[in-house]
Amino acid sequence: MDVVIGGAGISGLTMGYFLDKKKRDYILLEKQSEPGGLCRSIHQQGFIFDYTGHLLHFRYPEIESFIKSLNLKLLSHKRRAYIFFNGKLISYPFQLNLHQLPPEIGYHCLYDFIQRRSCPNPQNSEEFFVSEFGKSIFQYFLEPYNQKLWTIKPKYIIPDWMGRFVPHVQLSEVLKPLFSGEEITDKGYNPFFYYPQNGISELPLSLVKKISQIKLNQEIIEVNWKEKKVITEQGTYPYGKLIWTLPLKSFLNLAQPAVPEVIKKSFNNLRSVKVLDLEMGFEGKSPEYHWVYLPEENILPYRVGCSSNFYQGKPGQFSIYAEIAFSRYKKIPPGDKKAVLEKVISSLKKYKLIDSQAKLQTYIARVIDPAYVIYDKNWKQSRKNIFVFFGKHSIVPVGRYAKWYYASMEDVIFNTLKIAEMM
Ligand SMILES: Cc1cc2nc3c(=O)[nH]c(=O)nc-3n(C[C@H](O)[C@H](O)[C@H](O)COP(=O)(O)OP(=O)(O)OC[C@H]3O[C@@H](n4cnc5c(N)ncnc54)[C@H](O)[C@@H]3O)c2cc1C
Repeated sequence: MDVVIGGAGISGLTMGYFLDKKKRDYILLEKQSEPGGLCRSIHQQGFIFDYTGHLLHFRYPEIESFIKSLNLKLLSHKRRAYIFFNGKLISYPFQLNLHQLPPEIGYHCLYDFIQRRSCPNPQNSEEFFVSEFGKSIFQYFLEPYNQKLWTIKPKYIIPDWMGRFVPHVQLSEVLKPLFSGEEITDKGYNPFFYYPQNGISELPLSLVKKISQIKLNQEIIEVNWKEKKVITEQGTYPYGKLIWTLPLKSFLNLAQPAVPEVIKKSFNNLRSVKVLDLEMGFEGKSPEYHWVYLPEENILPYRVGCSSNFYQGKPGQFSIYAEIAFSRYKKIPPGDKKAVLEKVISSLKKYKLIDSQAKLQTYIARVIDPAYVIYDKNWKQSRKNIFVFFGKHSIVPVGRYAKWYYASMEDVIFNTLKIAEMM
C-alpha cells in the first residue's frame, strides 16, 4: 500500500477524499463502526446530540466552497453568545460590551484597558491578555474563564494557541458602545456560523460517500515503524507513508518496537484537557442563546450551548450541552456522571440559564479525551522532537490531535488539503 491513513475523523476523511481524486493507492482504517470521529451526531428521542457544539465557521473561501460543494443542507445563523457574569448575561465579546457590566466593574475594565502597555513578546497567556486588554478584563473574565477551560492558570500557558480565537479590539471600538449603548455582537472569528440541518455528522457522511478505500471496525493495535507496517486485528497493512490522525500520544503505546527513550520523554510531556460532555434533551421553553461562557466557579461547566437553536428543534422541546473540563490538574467532583448531570441542571435552573420548569427527557454523558491540547512550557519542544522522529520514519501527523494543536474543523480540512497537495 502506498499510503495508510489511520483514523476516519474529519482529517482522515479529507485526506482520503483528496487521495482518491489523485488516484493514489491508499487505505483508510477506522476503529469505530462509523466515520466522523468527534464530528458525529446521535439522534435520540427527537434531539440531535453532537460531541458538544460543532459549528462551521469559514475564513478560507476555498474551504467554504469545498464544504458547500458537498451539498449539505446548511442552516446559517448569526451568533447569539453571552457571558454569564454577576448573575446576568453580558453580550460576547466581553471587552466590547463593558457598558453592560455593573458600573464600578465597567469603569475599572475601561480604565485598565486605556492604561494597558503593549508587550511585543509575551511569554505566557497572562502577559498577552493583560497587555492586550488590561488588568481588569483579565481578572474579571479572561483569567477565570481560561482557568476553567484549561484547568491551569493562563500564566502557565504559552500564547501560541490564541491567534484568531481571542478577538483583538481598538480603544475606539471599546468606547463607541459606551456612549451609543449599542450591543456589539459581530466581532471575533465566528459572528456567523453554519450548521447542517441534521447534525454535524452530515459532513463526514457526505465525504465518506466519495471515498473508495475505507475500512471501519479496524482498530490499529500496533505500528511497526521500523518495518513500516500497521497492524489491526483483521490484518497487516504495509505502507510507504503513514498518515496519522489518531491522538499523537496514542502512538507511544502502539509503537513496536518502542520509540527511543528521548522521544518517549517527549510523548510523556504532552498534556491535555478532557471534557465531560453532557447532552440533555428537555421539554419546556427554549432559551434564546446559542451558547454562554461561564467563568464563575460556582457553576461546573465552562460553557453551555442550546444545540436545538442550531438544528431548529421541535416547539416545546430544547437541547442543551454542558462542557466540564478536567485533567490531571483538576478533577471533576466526586460522584457518577448522573450525579454531576443533576448538579448541572439544578444550577442552570437556579441561574435561569434554562427554564426552571423544564423536564429532562433524555441525555448522554460522555468523556471527550483528549479534548484540548495544553500549550504548556514543554509543548513546542516535545512536538518538534516527535515530528522530527515521525519525519525520519515516513509518518505524517494530520488533524487536531495528531498535530497536537488547537484547530477547528475548517483548520484541519485546510491543513489536510495542503498536505494532500504535496503528496
Ligand atoms: C469540545 C469541543 C468542541 C468543538 N467545537 C468545534 C466547533 O464548534 N467548530 C469546529 O470547527 N471545531 C470544533 N471542535 C474541533 C473539532 O472537533 C476538531 O477540529 C475535529 O473534529 C478534529 O478531527 P480529526 O479528524 O483531526 O480528529 P478526530 O475527530 O479525533 O478523529 C480521529 C479518528 O481516529 C480514530 N481512531 C482513534 N484511535 C484509533 C485506532 N487505534 N485505530 C483506528 N482508528 C482510531 C477515532 O475513532 C476518530 O475517528 C471542537 C472540539 C471539541 C473537543
